[in-house]
Amino acid sequence: MDKRIYLCLAHMSGKEQDFIKEAFDTNWVVPLGPNVNAFEEELKHFVGRNKEVVALSAGTAAIHLALIQLGVQAGDEVICQSFTFCASANPVNYQGATPVFVDSEEDTWNMSPTLLEEAVRDRIAKTGKKPKAIIPVHLYGMPAKIDEICAIAARYDIPVLEDAAEALGSEFMGRKCGTFGQFGVLSFNGNKMITTSGGGALIVPNEEAKKKTMFYATQAREPFPYYQHEKIGYNYRMSNICAGIGRGQMTVLNEHIAHHRRIHELYKLAFADVDGIELKSNPDERFNANYWLSTILIDKNVTGFDYEELRIALDAKGIETRPLWKPMHLQPIFANSPRYVDGTAEKLFNRGLCIPAGPCVTDEDAAYIVREIKKCMKK
Ligand SMILES: *Cc1c(COP(=O)(O)O)cnc(C)c1O
Repeated sequence: MDKRIYLCLAHMSGKEQDFIKEAFDTNWVVPLGPNVNAFEEELKHFVGRNKEVVALSAGTAAIHLALIQLGVQAGDEVICQSFTFCASANPVNYQGATPVFVDSEEDTWNMSPTLLEEAVRDRIAKTGKKPKAIIPVHLYGMPAKIDEICAIAARYDIPVLEDAAEALGSEFMGRKCGTFGQFGVLSFNGNKMITTSGGGALIVPNEEAKKKTMFYATQAREPFPYYQHEKIGYNYRMSNICAGIGRGQMTVLNEHIAHHRRIHELYKLAFADVDGIELKSNPDERFNANYWLSTILIDKNVTGFDYEELRIALDAKGIETRPLWKPMHLQPIFANSPRYVDGTAEKLFNRGLCIPAGPCVTDEDAAYIVREIKKCMKK
């Protein structure tokens, strides 16, 4: 094969340029405008539950603005899922607060409700105050055990900030990920379910929270004719050009999700009879992952290779793969953060690999990838 198969390439519907052209034609080349409003409306309709949505410059910015609205300040603690991309936890540090890392459970690879409760209790006992927020993640688009997590959060009256950056379209019991917590985060970076070339959104509970989010996202300007500032603000709004790309992408979002699920299904059939390779799938019928990336666990004792040996072998065959996220509690930058871990995320990290899944991966590509993996095993 001479083409290279990437993990998750952006895929355009063709309509993006029409929305961008319209923005140019009407001179809305600014960080607000008709595309931003329409994109927000479409997202609001997509996620449902009467939520409001604010389009922002990045998913990371969305997490930051949610933490600000939850009152997270220097000296506070925020509970974070350890098994994730660094952007889930970094904004906690922007606020001068401390992330407290909680390990994953095996069913979903996401925040363990058992360890979460242990962490909440222990932090209260040790510091005399409650963590300010809980940030579970729906990693690789697999819904976390969000019902149990929200129940624990409610018991201790701690708000939940759901990181659904990888989980646009994923559902738990028929309800979209990102709508369970007080706030939900989406990302439209280049390799996510849809792209705006770079961007994100905050799902908020009501119109008031939407106004507040927009206030902080546009330099916290007070309602005076001159520029009056009483709070520290940010420049986090999405541009009308990027939102134009988003509107084009919304026309193919459901197709993208269906495609990711279809590729996962092809892998599932193909790996069913392969010992030593375990494809991650929905643990039961309550979970409906978007399968943003398909992921496998490798049992080296059976296959004879580990994830890194497989990654290098597939790379030589034109197939891009990637190790699973390295847990935050193992990152040098977070060496001093408190942690409640039982080794689950570390074990997954040491055994796993992400394999291509995006809209540009064809059925033949999937078959080729499986064939190449099986060939490695015969050696
Ligand atoms: C991509 C991602 C983010 C951040 O989104 P950006 O739009 O890249 O800032 C946050 N959390 C997770 C889990 C992500 O994968």
